[in-house]
Amino acid sequence: MTYVPSSALAQRVLEGDTRAIARLLTRAESGSEEARATLDQMFAHAGRAHVVGITGVPGSGKSTLVAKLAAAVRRSGRNVAIVAIDPSSPFSGGAILGDRIRMSELGGDPGVFVRSMATRGALGGLAAGALEAVDVLDAAGFDMVVIETVGVGQDEVEVARAAHTTVVVSAPGLGDDIQAIKAGILEIADIHVVSKCDRPDADKTIADLKNMLMLGLTGARGAWRPPVLPTSAVRDEGVAELAAAIDRHRAALVASGEIDARRAAIDERRLLKAGEEILRDRFVRHRHGRLAELLAELSRRALSPHSAATRLIAELGEDA
Ligand code: GDP
Repeated sequence: MTYVPSSALAQRVLEGDTRAIARLLTRAESGSEEARATLDQMFAHAGRAHVVGITGVPGSGKSTLVAKLAAAVRRSGRNVAIVAIDPSSPFSGGAILGDRIRMSELGGDPGVFVRSMATRGALGGLAAGALEAVDVLDAAGFDMVVIETVGVGQDEVEVARAAHTTVVVSAPGLGDDIQAIKAGILEIADIHVVSKCDRPDADKTIADLKNMLMLGLTGARGAWRPPVLPTSAVRDEGVAELAAAIDRHRAALVASGEIDARRAAIDERRLLKAGEEILRDRFVRHRHGRLAELLAELSRRALSPHSAATRLIAELGEDA
């Protein structure tokens, strides 16, 4: 395969060339320095796509739902990209297999792009890397970018929140109560989906969720009241309604002007995250050389971990 310099690659990505997009994402995931500048360029071109975060506990039916949602969005003439974060498959081979399965379901449609991420991005963190992948797809001209995450860790919740519309999927049969509460993801929902509504126990899940919403236990923001939407992949029901609810939510954000506040909040979190990751990286590299000496001081209790860290951070400033 011929090597394409990142500058040429960037141009092709902006033209929506699928192979160029895939290559840039691979380069970003491998942490190449050259990709860094290209990703910055992508951020500059991004900002048009509607970004939808879909989260829920493992087994709640997210992957199934996302494939169907993508098909519904395509029927409305828009193109859609999916970034699936899959911490359960740490090897990229697993992620690629997942992509193939999803792709085949979507019938090789060029208006759909699917990418799984199980590894770290150019900046080092899963969250930062995933959101940079979203920038790339946004800059490449996708109307909607869906980020699918398993709501299992802080990083994954962070990603789902970094969307314009966040969808939380709950399902019957995963336990005696609403699993999403335990995962701490229920309150981030703009839209609730109860999947697998072909199951007889789904009514209880819907009723429990609605009760909680009535008690104000889960986050209504502004004038928008998060709807509870039943879906069934088996019966092919509810997905068009989900696509419509996402569009309604977007329209409500724009009409109320809340979209700007949300963009600013996302930018702020990304800034903080990028800062943390850059600092952590530099800290770890710098610490390496001083570690033996500092550990000796800690073991003599001549320094506390806090003051040792403060000293290292001050030295980072001097290095710069
Ligand atoms: P994820 O882990 O949240 O991505 O969940 P999956 O999409 O992989 O689905 C988990 C399991 O639930 C699979 O065995 C699916 O076949 C099943 N499933 C997904 N959607 C439905 C549905 O609408 N009805 C029923 N009965 N099963 C479903």
